[in-house]
Amino acid sequence: MHSLFHLSRAHTAIVLAVLAICGVWLLALLAVSDIDLALLRTSRAVTESGETIVETRYNSIGILVFGVLAAASFGGGMLLARFALPFIQRTKRVSSDEVASASETLGRELANSLAIIRASLATKEVYARSLASAQTRLAGLTEAEQVRVIVSLLIAENERMRLAIVEDKGKIEACAREIEALQASLRGAEEAALTDPLTAVGNRRHFDTVMARVVQDSNTHQTPLSLIMCDIDHFKRVNDMFGHHIGDEIIRALAGIIKSSVRETDTVARYGGEEFAIILPMTEQQVAIATAERIRDKFGAKRFAVRETNQKIGQVTASFGVAEHRPGDAAETFVQRADAKLYEAKAGGRDRVADPG
Ligand code: GH3
Ligand code: MG
Ligand code: MG
Repeated sequence: MHSLFHLSRAHTAIVLAVLAICGVWLLALLAVSDIDLALLRTSRAVTESGETIVETRYNSIGILVFGVLAAASFGGGMLLARFALPFIQRTKRVSSDEVASASETLGRELANSLAIIRASLATKEVYARSLASAQTRLAGLTEAEQVRVIVSLLIAENERMRLAIVEDKGKIEACAREIEALQASLRGAEEAALTDPLTAVGNRRHFDTVMARVVQDSNTHQTPLSLIMCDIDHFKRVNDMFGHHIGDEIIRALAGIIKSSVRETDTVARYGGEEFAIILPMTEQQVAIATAERIRDKFGAKRFAVRETNQKIGQVTASFGVAEHRPGDAAETFVQRADAKLYEAKAGGRDRVADPG
């Protein structure tokens, strides 16, 4: 099932789980009531004038307790569903709210601009009509009178047009400024959606988009394309010994070194936790390997320390895998080959760029 009430799979699963818990509760209650029926009623056989009569007495306290329990569990289930559903739906709405408000503002601005353009066109139509009607009014006048009428009409209409143009210009400029600001914030949002917040390099989504494009380019134009995958060595130890926030700073340092070691046309992305990918278009494997070696050298030469405690972290190293795109390679195959090389570098002792081949 893809969704329930337009909820995502995860949210649908939560709702189903809540319903299942309520169901299990109900079943359990039914079972209890079955087993402990004796609590609810007692029967005894009475012999009266040779006849055995079975007498059943209901235990009112037992029935009351059972009723309260059943009502409480049913109410509990309902409350859970009542509070869980709006919460889930609200979570979904929050993310779409931003987009909705941006497109609402954009829609309003466009409607505003349209209204201004229409009003401006209407002013020009009035001007044209006014000039046309002047021709009828001129008939039957002397030449000198005609010139006077025409001149005064032109002066009046020109003044009207000038005022209209000044007014339109102001409105149109205000609209243009609004639209420019909106475009800038949309560009900002787009950029943020593709940027890794910790390191400010591209995120995995950015990597996937660029990779799909460059692989297609390379396949179409038969141009070289290389990929470097890089992963910090024994990073778990760094986190364990110095804390996650220190680990974050080291990830940031590596991102900075990578960024400053590649060309503008290369794409750096944080591929995973402490793993980076570098896409190098128009680059052959040997050049990519040299780039990886340069990054490895710079990173390995750094000596880290914790400023607040003066604790020495020392050297942190990274391993690299490099692959060159082969004609017809799909993006996944290409990434897998670079990843396999990275694995080789790890297995070969770390702090190295895997041998080509
Ligand atoms: P290896 O040399 O085999 O790569 O060893 P490793 O310890 O680095 O192993 P692995 O790459 O599997 O572990 C990555 C660790 O990185 C696990 C996780 O705790 C840590 N990590 C992942 N993302 C982050 C992050 O954003 N910040 C910090 N500080 N640590 C992270
Ligand atoms: Mg690692
Ligand atoms: Mg890793």
